[in-house]
Amino acid sequence: MSWSRWLLALALSTLGCVKRVDEYSSTRTVVFVAKTIRTLDPRHPIAQALAMRGGTLLAVGTRDEVLAQAGSDAVVETFPSSTIVPGLVDAHGHLLHLGQALLTPALQGAVTEAEAVALVKASAQRGDWLVGRGWDQNRWPGHAFPTRASLDLSFPSTPVVLTRVDGHAVWLNGEALRRAGITRATRDPEGGRIVRDAGGEPTGVLVDHAIDLVHVPAPTTEARAQALKLALETCARLGLTQVHDAGMDLETLRVLQQWDMLGALPTRVYVMVDGQDAAHADEFLGLGRSKGRRLEVRAVKLVLDGALGSRGALLGQPSADEPSTRGWSLLSPEVFDARARAFADAGFQVAVHAIGDEAARLALDTLVALARAHPDSRPRLEHAQVLAPADLTRLAEGAVIASMQPPHATSDLAWAQERLGPERVQWAYAWHSVLQAGGHLALGSDFPIESPNPLWGLYAARTRTDQKGQPEGGWFPSQPLTGQEALEGFTTGAAFASFAEQQRGQLIAGREADFVILSVDPVDDPPRALLEASVRLTVVDGIDVYRAPR
Ligand SMILES: [Zn+2]
Repeated sequence: MSWSRWLLALALSTLGCVKRVDEYSSTRTVVFVAKTIRTLDPRHPIAQALAMRGGTLLAVGTRDEVLAQAGSDAVVETFPSSTIVPGLVDAHGHLLHLGQALLTPALQGAVTEAEAVALVKASAQRGDWLVGRGWDQNRWPGHAFPTRASLDLSFPSTPVVLTRVDGHAVWLNGEALRRAGITRATRDPEGGRIVRDAGGEPTGVLVDHAIDLVHVPAPTTEARAQALKLALETCARLGLTQVHDAGMDLETLRVLQQWDMLGALPTRVYVMVDGQDAAHADEFLGLGRSKGRRLEVRAVKLVLDGALGSRGALLGQPSADEPSTRGWSLLSPEVFDARARAFADAGFQVAVHAIGDEAARLALDTLVALARAHPDSRPRLEHAQVLAPADLTRLAEGAVIASMQPPHATSDLAWAQERLGPERVQWAYAWHSVLQAGGHLALGSDFPIESPNPLWGLYAARTRTDQKGQPEGGWFPSQPLTGQEALEGFTTGAAFASFAEQQRGQLIAGREADFVILSVDPVDDPPRALLEASVRLTVVDGIDVYRAPR
């Protein structure tokens, strides 16, 4: 059987629970009546009912208006205590990694190194290599990186590779180090670090480009498909009608393209191809842009620096808590600039991961010029986590989109000030400042680094507190968004960031029927209610891709 036929068979066998488009392309009109509909259309912000047919919204308005337009044979569904909002979009996530994270031990909850080891031990994972994800030494006593020693006690002969919560560091046992050929004689690669003890011996943690020294066997196509299916279903269940996948590899793209042709994608996917590696970048440039039913390839993601939690974020000035470090760049400015231009010239939107203020400055040098050379090309700064005031102005005036993730602030607030110092931290995670400067904001989660649940993202955006409500009043109280602004970030803002603002993001007659029915009003209900809220129905293209059990 050819690879593509095999994949087709696999898709049909594994996607049984995902309904196919063809079954639903009926001409039947369906009306939804709710307590409130937040249309995000500034001319008619509130409605009570909407009608759809064949994937398009027919009418949005009062119950009587909509019923009159829908005709007497329309099916009517009533959700008297619920709120309908446009489909929620995560503007920055990683589908394959989410699926893999859901299938392997999640270490986010570990509050000590020993607990993280115990979680790996307790997992039922089988295979040549044991993998896991989500540890964060900043949550442990002392904040020190873990070492191979604790893993070697439990795993003397099976290689173990555990990815840090931000994806920018890995923790290995002795066997994994041995298979990677890493010894005290191995030099730190450019843009990376092998963490060592005082005697120069590798301790088991590799940061940024040093991670490339380890070659965990790539997932089989079947394992990849299993992970993607789980991730897509999870997104639909959480009310996400689209995900912007921030850096997709070709194998993953092929799987999703097959499913899209079959009408089997529950959630729309806007693809930023992974342009980091020169050979892969050329391959993607050769393939060019493409648009299917629910899958669009239109952007490229380039990564300029590491992350703050693993000390790889490129800062203009040294870290406040470890003055010998200020991070590193993962692409030289020349290579970055040339590659960004090549993709922009080929009609791609350029999205750049920049976490440190120096990385943002370098990214904006190129992106502002690209925006000028290619009108309406909407370049994006992904994360934009630490942004000097002058660069904030450049971003807004230069028509560069800020693609930001509110949960990062609530995860990092315990230690970010220590690392950045009292001045820089005021420009960090500054969503509200972006809006005040007149910038475009698209919101997301960066899953699986954070939970993909957009309701938790709305909570983080509105409160800037952790889920226990700390710190009281919110971290840097000038930065929380209003309920309306936060909802816009996950709907109209994300639609603009994928050139889809004429099709989606607002509930207006004639637009595509993507919406979510929630047990909570994300604008008017107190933010705490978002943590307990649930999704009743997720509709993509007029099809219910998720319905909560009654
Ligand atoms: Zn990311």
